[in-house]
Amino acid sequence: GTAIELRGVGKLYHDETSGRQVHALSEVDLTVRTGEFVSLIGPSGCGKTTLLKILDGLLPHDQGEVLINGARSTGPGPERAMVFQSFALLPWLNVYDNIAFGLRIRGVTGKQAEATVRHYMDMVGLRGFADSYPAQLSGGMQQRVGIARALAVNPAILLMDEPFGSLDAQTRNLLQVDLERIYEADNKTVVFVTHAMDEAVFLSDRIVIMSPRPGRIHELIDVDLPRP
Ligand code: ADP
Ligand code: ADP
Repeated sequence: GTAIELRGVGKLYHDETSGRQVHALSEVDLTVRTGEFVSLIGPSGCGKTTLLKILDGLLPHDQGEVLINGARSTGPGPERAMVFQSFALLPWLNVYDNIAFGLRIRGVTGKQAEATVRHYMDMVGLRGFADSYPAQLSGGMQQRVGIARALAVNPAILLMDEPFGSLDAQTRNLLQVDLERIYEADNKTVVFVTHAMDEAVFLSDRIVIMSPRPGRIHELIDVDLPRP
């Protein structure tokens, strides 16, 4: 099936400083099949984060259509989870409660939630940090919390905005392998923003290159990769 379909999607921001409208996205078409792992690459400012936030339902789009599993997206849904480049952790909650947050809003609590939170804390290397608060953690550790929070809800569609950018090379390699294993086993759909071409080639079925063009029309160039 088709997990994600964008038709002619546009997004305008109102820039407070200049008082002008910024075309962050215009006329974007993109189709992602269920179970596909797509990497999205492009220069800074071309609209990658904006596109992911629209896919997650966090930002409304101004033009076109966004279909998630065939239905119009009107906001966030339980089948989607996002890893934010800026982590977006809740500062008043400790590591454990940040990771449990997504489960709680989906109605998962008690022993089942605890086992899930512990499992993903171990996977990303957060054992022993349950009681720490985000402000006490390095950027890399905060990024692990954001990754665990998204994976814990076992989303059918996983949206990741440079999820490994703040991690050391060893942790990044471990998590890449974990991500590949999870993704292959579960037929999950992943849209993955990265600056690292090697990472995109290692993980993806398809690489989509997003380029700002004159007139602010965004062209998405597909590169299909053979799976080993
Ligand atoms: P990328 O993730 O590819 O770096 P973004 O989606 O963050 O790109 O940004 C796309 C464009 O929209 C950029 O020109 C950026 O400055 C602008 N932009 C992003 N967020 C806002 C905002 N909240 N208000 C105004 N302009 C924004
Ligand atoms: P991220 O990619 O995780 O969103 P950024 O540093 O790109 O991190 O952006 C941080 C926040 O600032 C985002 O919510 C983004 O929408 C907003 N932002 C980005 N560019 C602009 C801009 N030119 N004007 C206002 N807000 C912006």
